[in-house]
Amino acid sequence: MIIGSWYLPLPRKLATLASKNPPNLGHLYTNCRMPGQAKHANNRKPRNPLQNAHFVLLSPDMAHVPPDEGFEVAFAGRSNAGKSSAINALTGQKSLARTSKTPGRTQALVFFALDDLRRLVDLPGYGYAKVSASVKKQWHQTLDSFLNQRQALRGIVLLMDIRHPLTEFDQQMIEWCHAQSMPLLLLLSKSDKLSKGAAHATLQQVNRTLTGYDKTTTQLFSMQDTPGIEQARLHIANWLEI
Ligand code: GDP
Repeated sequence: MIIGSWYLPLPRKLATLASKNPPNLGHLYTNCRMPGQAKHANNRKPRNPLQNAHFVLLSPDMAHVPPDEGFEVAFAGRSNAGKSSAINALTGQKSLARTSKTPGRTQALVFFALDDLRRLVDLPGYGYAKVSASVKKQWHQTLDSFLNQRQALRGIVLLMDIRHPLTEFDQQMIEWCHAQSMPLLLLLSKSDKLSKGAAHATLQQVNRTLTGYDKTTTQLFSMQDTPGIEQARLHIANWLEI
C-alpha cells in the first residue's frame, strides 16, 4: 500500500523555519482577511477611484462646456432626489456638490474633473415647480442638447427617491437611455427611509418594470450604506475605464 506516501514529514530545520516565518498568503486573497490581519492591509482603505474629482466649471448652456473628448458620466434626477449627496458620497468629499434642502439649486451643467480625460457631470435637477416656464424650458433644452450631442458620455446615473420611483421624468430618461443603448445606473436613493424588506420589495418591483432593459442596472443607495456606495463607485469607475 502506498497510501500516505505523499505525507512526508518536513525536514526538522525547514519545519522550524516555517513555524517561525509562516508564509504570508494575504496577496492570494482579495476579499478575505488572514486571521489577525487589519481590515485593510497597512490600515489603508482601498483607494477611491473617484476621489480626485474637483470642480471645473458650471455652464448654463452647451456653449461653454469643456471640449467633447475623453469619458464622462452624468448624474440626473429630480430635484431633492439626493443627487448632490450621492456625488459627495461617491467622490468621498463632503461638499463637492452643494447639498441643499432647497430643491432646484442645481440649475446648470456642472463639470467635475477626475483627470485630464475623465469628468463627472451634474445635470440640471428637473421637476422644480417654483421656477418660471421659460426657465424650465431652458433647462430641458440644455439637458436635451447635452444628452443628444455629447460624444464623451459613457453612462448616466439616475437618482430616484426610493419612496417615489419612476416619475414621468425618470421614465423619460430611462426610455432615452434604452433607445440610445446608453448604460444606466439607477440608484434608489434614501433607501434608509424604508425598512429593509420594503426597500427590497421596491427594488424588485422596479427591476420587474425594467425587464429587458439590458443596459440598466438598479441598486439600493443610501448615505448610510458604505458597501452600496462602493458598489456604485466601482460601476462608475468601470464606465470611465479607471
Ligand atoms: P438633490 O436636490 O437631488 O441634489 O438632493 P440633495 O442631495 O440636496 O438631498 C436632498 C435631501 O435629501 C437633503 O436633505 C439630504 O440630506 C437628504 N438625503 C440625501 N441622501 C440621503 C440618504 O441617503 N438618506 C437620507 N435619510 N437622506 C438623504
